[in-house]
Amino acid sequence: MSAALQSQINGRVAELAAQLAATASRPWTLMEVCGGQTHAILRWGLDQLLPPGLRLIHGPGCPVCVTSAERIDAALELAVRPEVILCSYGDMLRVPGGAAGHDLLGARAAGGDVRLLTSPLQAIALAQACPERQVVFLAVGFETTAPATALLLRQARALGLTNLTVLLAHVRVAPAMAALLQEPGNQVQGFLAAGHVGAVMGTAELGQLVRRHRVPVVVTGFEPVDVMAALLRLVQLLEAGTPALANAYGRVVRQQGNGAAQALLKEVFAVVDQPWRGLGPIAGGGYELVAAYRDFDALLRFDLPPAAAAPPPEPLASPCISGLILQGRALPPDCPAFGSACTPERPLGAPMVSSEGACAAYHRYRRPAP
Ligand code: SF4
Repeated sequence: MSAALQSQINGRVAELAAQLAATASRPWTLMEVCGGQTHAILRWGLDQLLPPGLRLIHGPGCPVCVTSAERIDAALELAVRPEVILCSYGDMLRVPGGAAGHDLLGARAAGGDVRLLTSPLQAIALAQACPERQVVFLAVGFETTAPATALLLRQARALGLTNLTVLLAHVRVAPAMAALLQEPGNQVQGFLAAGHVGAVMGTAELGQLVRRHRVPVVVTGFEPVDVMAALLRLVQLLEAGTPALANAYGRVVRQQGNGAAQALLKEVFAVVDQPWRGLGPIAGGGYELVAAYRDFDALLRFDLPPAAAAPPPEPLASPCISGLILQGRALPPDCPAFGSACTPERPLGAPMVSSEGACAAYHRYRRPAP
């Protein structure tokens, strides 16, 4: 980035921060849902420009962090089977599973065939290249990546592939926001919603959330000016006592979203209740395959149990407080292991593994002095 552009951004951010200070007449607690926004806030020090009393807490918007330990345990179980090639995105390979705390990289070291993909469609090439093996794709992510998994399955079906399945761990954001608001002791008074999810899903679900819970929501992006402008809009709505939905990311998000992506989701997935790691069961918080695609369900193909209603607790011996962090009830530096026992090189929990995790953001941009 050129120095001139940097200075222009800093100037605009400072201008918005001044407007924010002039607008906020009392304390407010706001949550940015998306891990990408958390990283932008920490990277640009936006939280340090806020007026006193305006508190930002970080939400559960990191799909790697909220993938249930049971799904990871299922992937670990499959990864060591000789007939299976287990593949997923890079961050998932380092996320610890349930009580034993193992990860997929460990399974690979133990002889499992675990491979890293950068696109789900690579699983098709893998299945075609290895017809004698069973390729299992651990599919994670929000509504942003779920359409690509749906496309993978549509193509696999069209090609008649019988050696490809998915271990489904896609999650839906709006139901998790609703669940947070219903938690006893909830502190969230307004949300910044993730622009990339809005680009796919549109704004209808968020509108329902606003009407049902009477909490303002502003959809925004990931650049510092986007985040600051959205914070200002959110505080304006709160100060005016107007629980409304605002779209501060109109250059990307349309009210109706992406129709083609939504049609793919509808063709392949049905909405189900799903456990989120750190949050527990979320009504309507995930997807399952519809009957026409159930042959591609790895749980059925390999006779593994479906996700239980309640996820198992974190291992008793672990100091990890990622559940509290994902609920916005603690910040990463509150964790006794932050930056000492837990680092990106030796993570104890998913928020330190993931490139979108809050612990990784604090470690990268606001690490305590050694
Ligand atoms: S710093 Fe590490 S141990 Fe602590 S909450 Fe974050 S991921 Fe868990």
